[in-house]
Amino acid sequence: MARPDHYTTLGVDKKASAEEIKKAYRKLARRYHPDRNPDDKAAEERFKEVQQAYDVLGDADRRKAYDRGGIFPGGFGGGGAGAPDMGGFGDILSDLFGTATGGGGGGPGTRFRSRTKPQAEKGRDLETEVSISFDQAIEGAQVPVAVATHSACPTCRGTGAEPGTEPIVCPVCQGRGVESQGQGLFSITRPCSRCNGSGTVIEKPCRTCKGAGRTRELKRYRVNIPAGVKDGSRIRLAGKGEAGLRGGPPGDLYVVTRVSESSVFRRKGDNLEVEVPITVVEALRGAEVEVPTLDATKRLRVKPGTASGTVQRLRGEGPERLDGGGRGDIHYRFVIDVPGELTKEQAEIVEDLGRVMNGNPRERILREAKAKAK
Ligand SMILES: [Zn+2]
Ligand SMILES: [Zn+2]
Repeated sequence: MARPDHYTTLGVDKKASAEEIKKAYRKLARRYHPDRNPDDKAAEERFKEVQQAYDVLGDADRRKAYDRGGIFPGGFGGGGAGAPDMGGFGDILSDLFGTATGGGGGGPGTRFRSRTKPQAEKGRDLETEVSISFDQAIEGAQVPVAVATHSACPTCRGTGAEPGTEPIVCPVCQGRGVESQGQGLFSITRPCSRCNGSGTVIEKPCRTCKGAGRTRELKRYRVNIPAGVKDGSRIRLAGKGEAGLRGGPPGDLYVVTRVSESSVFRRKGDNLEVEVPITVVEALRGAEVEVPTLDATKRLRVKPGTASGTVQRLRGEGPERLDGGGRGDIHYRFVIDVPGELTKEQAEIVEDLGRVMNGNPRERILREAKAKAK
């Protein structure tokens, strides 16, 4: 028996990287897989060659030995070990077909263990959005949500079998959920074609759900939105998701809040921010101004000489914190309101003011810029 050229088999260069070899192998394994080429002896032979080539080239140590001229046809190197290591082989196939395979005869790693009872499965989680106003987000609200979901079929109680009958153990796989194809070394285990791996079949499907065990429906809930939610908050409703399969628990429903903006308050994390216009005179000589809070108004002191952008905060006047840690704050940002036009009288007074307030506030930046230029 001639020494096989594994590189030619996989169609890769002798200098190919491990990644390139893996890629080539996957492509060929898919193309020649017995499942895709039933009763095609030539494809089966090619498939075995590809497997053998990858068994050697896919392993760094074996590849080195092979490159040095070692490893004989059909041998697996490593001093004549009897059984081949099917680890890598099984892993790759599970990637290819989305199922674990037992390789040489169902070892402890086989996913489809012998079983007669179908396994329960938790239902999927669902997610839906609700739009609420800014006030609802602050105060909390009870809002209706409708979510499309699957529920356990009321006729068959989720079994999928016509009432009075029961699913039976699959006659093809005897409930194991898997079928084996081929012999010995290259025996391929795959999900049972009759029962799709569930291990049971329904002889008389339920008329309501046609054997699915679940029906599609629109569920309506009234959701309590807690006070203080933000745009994008997720509220979990335990057990309100999709029904479980074969008696499994239901999933959860997540309600995501979409909060419309307020024309006054802007949300900043746990706090709110409000822009408060003040007049030039209020900024200069100070004042006491009325500002809005969430439930009423409060008075705030503007200190004499307040710059535009100065922030004052009222602690504990903000929205409820979702973690139960009390309430956030409201930040008031003073912005000097500069009139676009002045009356004749105002213009005269501003002229007078200009004469007495005649310092140059740009002196420092000009001086420092000039010093740098030198
Ligand atoms: Zn049903
Ligand atoms: Zn079966």
